[in-house]
Amino acid sequence: MKLKQYEVLKWASLFLEENNREARVAELLLQHHLGFTRSAFFANMRETIPSEVYQAFQTDLEKHANTGIPLQHLTGYEEFYGRRFQVNESVLIPRPETEELVQHTIRAVTSRENQKVRIVDAGTGSGIIAITLALELPEAEVIATDISPEALQVAQTNAARLGATITLMEGDFLQPLTDEQLPVDILVSNPPYIAETEREELHDTVKNFDPELALFAADDGLAAYKKMMKQATTLMNRNSLIAFEIGHMQGEAVKQLVEESFPGSNAEIVQDINGKNRIIMAKIK
Ligand code: GLN
Repeated sequence: MKLKQYEVLKWASLFLEENNREARVAELLLQHHLGFTRSAFFANMRETIPSEVYQAFQTDLEKHANTGIPLQHLTGYEEFYGRRFQVNESVLIPRPETEELVQHTIRAVTSRENQKVRIVDAGTGSGIIAITLALELPEAEVIATDISPEALQVAQTNAARLGATITLMEGDFLQPLTDEQLPVDILVSNPPYIAETEREELHDTVKNFDPELALFAADDGLAAYKKMMKQATTLMNRNSLIAFEIGHMQGEAVKQLVEESFPGSNAEIVQDINGKNRIIMAKIK
């Protein structure tokens, strides 16, 4: 028996709800299996679904319901800043909050007289920040670092597919730059910032699938910021800029860290669209 698309969607959404999963995953996963854009998907709601497509969809749907494997690991991609990025189990799945970090960084760079700046994305993961900045700020030079060779592989693939020119360097946050004493104009990073003690509060789709290295940091989640501030002192000069994504409880702590490392700099805590402290922007004085 052939099933119509809307019937499958309805059944699958209910199935996910009953399993305490987000119903919307059904729609996105079905779109992916049909190879449809969102508009084609809605235009074809009354059409029947080929049985092999239905079977493959059902297998993935059950896997998601049973294990919590994220949609993006099933489809292999996530959208970020209007572009499609490849992801896998070696990198953090892009989050919408990080689009805000990128937006603030772009605004800060475009308001400068000279946009021929060197930007460093420390801990680039899938490369979303570095690649987006390279494409949106064509005059800038963008360097992306990561300690994980597997992550750098993903970032490289994404850069090539999206036609972005970035330099990838393997190492711990800014270490590849300190090794060569390369000055940095803009430091941007969305480092791991979750404290180990918060592990149990995380959803299974996150804690069992995003890489540990991308999620957790020692010192109440502040270790990465501390390390970067130590590394940055010899690399950053007057007028250079720091843009960090932070955990919503870390505003004051990270602000203090930045201001201690760079006396006189004014670190601003910026809220995300949900009204949570999410970004630190600091100009070095
Ligand atoms: N910079 C990457 C991102 O924002 C990776 C972040 C991470 O792994 N903590 O997605």
